[in-house]
Amino acid sequence: MSRQWAFYFDTQKCIGCHACSLSCRVRNDIDADGPKWRRMEHVAEGSFPDYEETSVSMSCFHCAESPCRQVCPTHAIEKRESDGIVTVDRDKCIGCHYCAYACPFGAALYDDEGLLSKCHLCLGEGAGDGHGKPARQKPEDGGATPACVDNCVGDALKAGPINEILREASKEAANRYSESDVGPALVVEPVTQESHDSIETTDPTG
Ligand code: SF4
Ligand code: SF4
Ligand code: SF4
Repeated sequence: MSRQWAFYFDTQKCIGCHACSLSCRVRNDIDADGPKWRRMEHVAEGSFPDYEETSVSMSCFHCAESPCRQVCPTHAIEKRESDGIVTVDRDKCIGCHYCAYACPFGAALYDDEGLLSKCHLCLGEGAGDGHGKPARQKPEDGGATPACVDNCVGDALKAGPINEILREASKEAANRYSESDVGPALVVEPVTQESHDSIETTDPTG
């Protein structure tokens, strides 16, 4: 693969404002009750008054091993050679939901046609699937950055070729990236406390 695009997320900088998830909907023309290509999860630890919450911004992470692609019976899902973005050819999708069972991140979602509909790293605007679109470009090549990154209030979310992302990341975050089995294209800065034992989505707007 010539260049794998990846997301970067800094848990310390995210303020949980939902600008990323809302701007994703706006850029991609997704209705309020449509699939949440980007969503916020809130990791809670402790109980009042010793209570802390960490916000995590989630989407499809365009995994290297892409388990969704491996189970798709119609070969509708592609891991693009040019930039590593995982796209779906909706002409081939039969809406069987196998990909949803396979995805560890809950990123395989379905629109009102019953077909797979998920983050395509803003390959063009609209509710398209990204299939067959040109390779993702760097900003300096004239390619726009994804809407979620453009609109991140806390400067917590970035996207770009993985080698550039890893250069900016801490050593610990870079090490975690290389340890993953499934290979999500995500570099995440760790939270300061080690473990959280409950995860819940608290805002239905995403
Ligand atoms: S829902 Fe569509 S993309 Fe997902 S596994 Fe089935 S055919 Fe493939
Ligand atoms: S990259 Fe684009 S499609 Fe993907 S979550 Fe961000 S705004 Fe949505
Ligand atoms: S826009 Fe940035 S700061 Fe706001 S919730 Fe999303 S990732 Fe966090």
